[in-house]
Amino acid sequence: MNSERYSGSCHCGAVRFTANADLGQTITCNCSICRRTGAILAFVPANEFTLVSGADALSDYQFGRKSVHHLFCRTCGVRPFGRGTGPDGREMVAINVRCLDDVDLAKLRPVAFDGASL
Ligand SMILES: [Zn+2]
Repeated sequence: MNSERYSGSCHCGAVRFTANADLGQTITCNCSICRRTGAILAFVPANEFTLVSGADALSDYQFGRKSVHHLFCRTCGVRPFGRGTGPDGREMVAINVRCLDDVDLAKLRPVAFDGASL
């Protein structure tokens, strides 16, 4: 894993976070929510993620099996990250790479993930 430290935020700035992530491994997903929100996602263990501010600014949206917390800023509506559990039971954070500072999105090569078939 080739992780680097990144910082990110929602649009209005209420929600700020830092994370150690490997942007060599990102996905886009065709599930019912990702196809609408258009996120590019990088997954990190929860202990590699720090919510710097905005815990009280986040709203939690859940659907289907309600296994994932699709968090979004209640002020600006941006969806900077979500929380869930990995296949091995570890707490994971799905970071929306589009919300990270100073990342050249055009250089990423996200893999298409077929979340719609899960
Ligand atoms: Zn916001």
